[in-house]
Amino acid sequence: MSQNGAAFERAQRVIPGGVNSPVRAFKAVGGTPLFVKSARGCTFVDLDDKTYVDYVMSWGPLILGHAHPAVVEAVQNAAGRGTSFGAPTEAESELAELIVGMVPSVEKVRFCSSGTEATMSALRLARAFTGRDKVVKFAGCYHGHADAFLISAGSGALTLGTPDSPGITAGTARDTVSLAYNDLDAVRAAFDAHPGEIACVILEPYVGNMGFVLPKPGFLAGLRELTQRHGAVLIFDEVMTGFRVAPGGVQQRENILPDMTTLGKIVGGGLPVGAVGGRSEIMERLSPVGAVYQAGTLSGNPLAMAAGIATLRLLQEAGIYEKLDGLAARLIEGLDTVFVRHGVAHQATQRGSMFGFFFTPQPVTDLASAKTSDVSFYARFFHAMLERGIYFAPSQFEAGFLSSMHDEAVVDRTVAAADDAIAALHAT
Ligand SMILES: *Cc1c(COP(=O)(O)O)cnc(C)c1O
Repeated sequence: MSQNGAAFERAQRVIPGGVNSPVRAFKAVGGTPLFVKSARGCTFVDLDDKTYVDYVMSWGPLILGHAHPAVVEAVQNAAGRGTSFGAPTEAESELAELIVGMVPSVEKVRFCSSGTEATMSALRLARAFTGRDKVVKFAGCYHGHADAFLISAGSGALTLGTPDSPGITAGTARDTVSLAYNDLDAVRAAFDAHPGEIACVILEPYVGNMGFVLPKPGFLAGLRELTQRHGAVLIFDEVMTGFRVAPGGVQQRENILPDMTTLGKIVGGGLPVGAVGGRSEIMERLSPVGAVYQAGTLSGNPLAMAAGIATLRLLQEAGIYEKLDGLAARLIEGLDTVFVRHGVAHQATQRGSMFGFFFTPQPVTDLASAKTSDVSFYARFFHAMLERGIYFAPSQFEAGFLSSMHDEAVVDRTVAAADDAIAALHAT
């Protein structure tokens, strides 16, 4: 048996499904997940000593690639000074200042340890601020695994066919209104149907968790206008898009300012960090200034702050986003050409270093259209690419990510591998 296979069997004996986050398990594509031995730049090596070009990049955090020397050094230095204090450090203010300087709508920020915690805290704040209970979300968006958001959720919940998880009370489900992404009329109707009851509208302003799906022109502006008119808080969940599609996330790229923003992934530079930020008026409701309770023993952890600071500083260097954008465009144009050449119906798109492709002839604007994709072809394509040393997400319904360590040669090799992979699939 392969080393990967043995490791997976061992893991399954003591960890449910052998993984600590469901999408890692390869359930949507079949086969055995790759156990990572080490990683550097844009590649990782598995237990069977095979090297893969990585387009998952830890599901988004690693915009500077694996084991970036500056990030590793920052973490090592911080570790030597102590790994956790439960008392404030200046590193927390430094990372907060970087965030406030980069993300246009954020005036104050509170750190936690995951994106899930960030959205959970944002929801509590929005409810306290408005004195209302209901949350409007969109089917296929993923906001972490807090109960209120596991109604028609994306990412692993979608991949594994459990968008509505058991274990969530009827009361919670009643307070969550789930609508189709890009359907502004549905949002209008929800506000009319629940006057004075909707605390907030939360969304991924570019969706990365049902595959990569963009807002239609006017959708974000329409949400801004409707939430303002009805006194609801607009929350952009930029856990994935923050520092990814622009230094200031989608809100900067599209010039639409939400009331609150949730961050994660890149902000921790590969260590566990989440953050909730927004207008001071809302953020000041948090304990110990206000009455809204939110806390964490390891929140603002010095190792995680060090990784985040090193990452955001490097991202402020000139030209990095332009380079990433060009690289992702090259990849998507290359894949598009390959799919067309082989007559494979598809949709493919990219913004910044985030990209996605769906195997469907239908334009993808929401969960229903995403689900028209040929997931069994995706699974075969995924494995054919894996054989060729290319690691895409093990699910049709996830975005792909580039890092500053990918380059044109690697992208061109990927496109050539896709050409070869599809030719082989069509020959069998
Ligand atoms: C990953 C993600 C989350 C959850 O973050 P975790 O750190 O996995 O808890 C929330 N929202 C979005 C948009 C995400 O992509």
